[in-house]
Amino acid sequence: MDADKKTPLIGLSPLRLRDIAAECRLPAFAAKQIAHWIYGKRVASIDAMTDLSLRGREALAGRWCVGRQDPVARAVSADGTVKYLFPGAGGRDIEAVYIPDRDRATLCVSSQAGCRMGCTFCMTGRQGFHGHLTAAQIVNQILSIPESDTLTNVVFMGMGEPLDNLDAVLAAIEVLTASWGLAWSPKRITVSTVGYLPTLRRLLDESKVHVALSVHTPFPDERAAIMPAEKAWPLAKVIETLRDYDFAHQRRLSVEYTMWQGVNDDMRHADALARLLRGTSARANLIRYHALPDGTLRPSSQPAMEAFRDRLNERGVTATIRASRGEDIDAACGMLAGKKK
Ligand code: SF4
Repeated sequence: MDADKKTPLIGLSPLRLRDIAAECRLPAFAAKQIAHWIYGKRVASIDAMTDLSLRGREALAGRWCVGRQDPVARAVSADGTVKYLFPGAGGRDIEAVYIPDRDRATLCVSSQAGCRMGCTFCMTGRQGFHGHLTAAQIVNQILSIPESDTLTNVVFMGMGEPLDNLDAVLAAIEVLTASWGLAWSPKRITVSTVGYLPTLRRLLDESKVHVALSVHTPFPDERAAIMPAEKAWPLAKVIETLRDYDFAHQRRLSVEYTMWQGVNDDMRHADALARLLRGTSARANLIRYHALPDGTLRPSSQPAMEAFRDRLNERGVTATIRASRGEDIDAACGMLAGKKK
């Protein structure tokens, strides 16, 4: 069987690895050994798992592979941001963006090839949907970039709506946080969503990661015009759901607010956003927009963004302007399209 027809082991938990060990006539404890090889020692081949018997390794390699895949291309920004291209789904590549920043290094990972949410201001949304990524493909983005060892944070803010592929996203989060995996604190992980209600409670119940809600305007009619998700899952209902959970302590809720000149950057919007978030502990991240080709939307000016931030702060909402990264390599928010450079 050639390597690409084999099934990847990365992304699997020891529970599943135990079944695979049994199929390969390996002892049950081999599951923990395999997990240690792939997540602890980060080996890329079954041959390297030298504490498994030779016969066991051969049986394992008959149907399985570690599943590590190097990026197929990369682009480096003047600001140190690096965009990596990996094989995705439906013949489309996907992107992961490495963002070093003083003592932090964040990887923005993709969860789908393309996206079904259709946000009008987003290159990924314009591309349509081409398929879900597997847990192995999500974990691979984290393990296979050259800077993997330096990562301090992972954000699910790349291509796709993570909650539309929640099984794979939760499996990847388990690999990141479990003691048999990378043993990270869930505080190092943020999942972004448009407010996908069918699985929002599952994410909140089955993980402890931070949540970032894409808001972009507090007014339902305006939001529906740029984010079709608003029609199916209104923001008011999403916030109501989020209110049932404790975000005041370990876990953080933030809202993402991309700012467009003359569209959503006046005080009326700031006041309505503050009202919407009243009683939650949500912080607001104000994001500078990167104009898309053929688009009519323009970024807000720096003074407008600062006035908006100050107004939110006065109204009791902690707001910060997020620094823009990787614009020159099309790696900034909303610019990911999976194209090769
Ligand atoms: S902004 Fe996010 S949810 Fe909306 S289309 Fe783009 S990738 Fe999908």
